Amino acid sequence: MAERQGLEETSSREARKIAQKCQLLVKAETRARVKKISEILKKPEDTRTKEEVQILQQSPDVVADMQKRARRRDKLKEQLKEVEDPPEVLCRKASELATAVQQARHLVVYTGAGISTAASIPDYRGPNGVWTLLQQGRPVETRSLTDAQPTVTHMALARLHQEGYVKHVVSQNCDGLHLRSGLPRQALSEVHGNMYIEVCTECDPELEYIRLFDVTERTSLHRHMTDRSCHACGEPLRDSIVHFGERSCLEQPHNWEDAMDNAKKADTILCLGSSLKVLKRYSCLWGKTRVLHKRPKLFIVNLQWTPKDDNATLKIHGKCDELMVLLMKKLRLDIPLYRRENDPIFKLVTPLLSDEHDSFSTRQLTLPTDTTSLRTQQESLSPTCNGNEKDTDQKDHSSYKPGWFGKGCAKRRSSTAKRRKSNTTTSTSVKLSE
Ligand SMILES: [Zn+2]
Repeated sequence: MAERQGLEETSSREARKIAQKCQLLVKAETRARVKKISEILKKPEDTRTKEEVQILQQSPDVVADMQKRARRRDKLKEQLKEVEDPPEVLCRKASELATAVQQARHLVVYTGAGISTAASIPDYRGPNGVWTLLQQGRPVETRSLTDAQPTVTHMALARLHQEGYVKHVVSQNCDGLHLRSGLPRQALSEVHGNMYIEVCTECDPELEYIRLFDVTERTSLHRHMTDRSCHACGEPLRDSIVHFGERSCLEQPHNWEDAMDNAKKADTILCLGSSLKVLKRYSCLWGKTRVLHKRPKLFIVNLQWTPKDDNATLKIHGKCDELMVLLMKKLRLDIPLYRRENDPIFKLVTPLLSDEHDSFSTRQLTLPTDTTSLRTQQESLSPTCNGNEKDTDQKDHSSYKPGWFGKGCAKRRSSTAKRRKSNTTTSTSVKLSE
């Protein structure tokens, strides 16, 4: 009896082994077939042999699937291409935009990383953007962003607001350049944070500390404490950055209330230097609840394709600074020069306590000692970071990596699960996601 049972066990074990072997063989055969088909499809049609054509005919599903994937790849490649309108087209489009700006009753502007590339801050999805580099496995160069200063576009927007043309600016940028351009805080929603701002969320109302250095030096995705404490209550301060997958949880500088309020009133939206891949997800910004003909007119300035292109009244393929120079000329408005001695951040700053001076190692913004060395972007319309205008602060910045810059997306893939239980004590249900 026991012998019989033993024989049955052995034969069922062998049967399992044979079945596993068969499965492996089938898998290997499928892999080889897919590889062969892929090689054949790479060849021009008229060079394929009869045998190769037959192989394709035998696996129509695999062929269709591969062709579909190839089409998707080509489309993506096409969308990532940077295209520039010829000068005469750009000029014509700038006139059209100028008319729209003049006719708008309530114009709101949405800005992305593309308006800061002229300040030597890489964008996200351009050929050398943070996302593009990370996706290609290439290193992201980090540098002190306090070297950057407001670009022509930032300064032009501040002027357009002053003249009453622009009612509100919603920015995805964390570089603080809108604030430093002189755009009033009530006209600005920095929905992904500001690298110069740290906040005490324990105080009611929240207490905000504006600094002259990047407070995100030691922070990253889900780690927002800056290692300094609130002067009023002693609780730890946090940065204001919203990484991918996190939710906005601060009144300021995110200012979603004004962003949404202005979006409701908007009859014209101007998008500058944004791929809109993230912004499009904030449905409250696009007037989608209105009937179609009452939705705001949409003007997009971006070198690459955006998912909103089909909804745009006008798509302008151009560099933001060049377009803004043309636009301001058509509107007969000067673009103010950025002067560091007039930078509002020096008036808004919260002085450090004596024991806080060693709490950061990043470069600090300082007022220029020699004002004749000030450079302006408009003098050369390819503004770069003001590298010549070195600060007097001599700290070692060699190992400095900003907490908001690229860290969020670098960790994004590996932390999908963690991301879901966001770090927040959220009061605003706006989530930054891809
Ligand atoms: Zn506090």
